[in-house]
Amino acid sequence: MKIYCRSCLKVTKHRQKGLRNPVNVCNKCDISNMPVRLVKSNGETHLGREVKFVEWKGEELGSLAKELHEQPQAGFSCLIDPQYGYSYTWLTTPIKEIISDTKHEDVRTIEFQTKNSSYILYIYNT
Ligand SMILES: [Zn+2]
Repeated sequence: MKIYCRSCLKVTKHRQKGLRNPVNVCNKCDISNMPVRLVKSNGETHLGREVKFVEWKGEELGSLAKELHEQPQAGFSCLIDPQYGYSYTWLTTPIKEIISDTKHEDVRTIEFQTKNSSYILYIYNT
């Protein structure tokens, strides 16, 4: 599988390492990398194992989550690594517009705009 390596600074081949909690390890430098990378327009980056999209019951962020989806849609928030309960790595404000959604080799790239910022979401090994 191909994942962006934060040490090599490019997409490299990875292999799985470990039996109980396997991680993806770069074939070149041997560090582990995560298959989801969300980059905000100011450069802020969040990494994760999986991504979901939250549909809200109300209009505002902070209202109750109605459902988690696999695919992005306007009005949904991007959620990195949802855990049981209320924990997660990162949650965006609701998506205003999906600018582009492309797939090249093993990388899906979704560019979207929220009320205050724009993001690029990279999902490797899809
Ligand atoms: Zn590497």
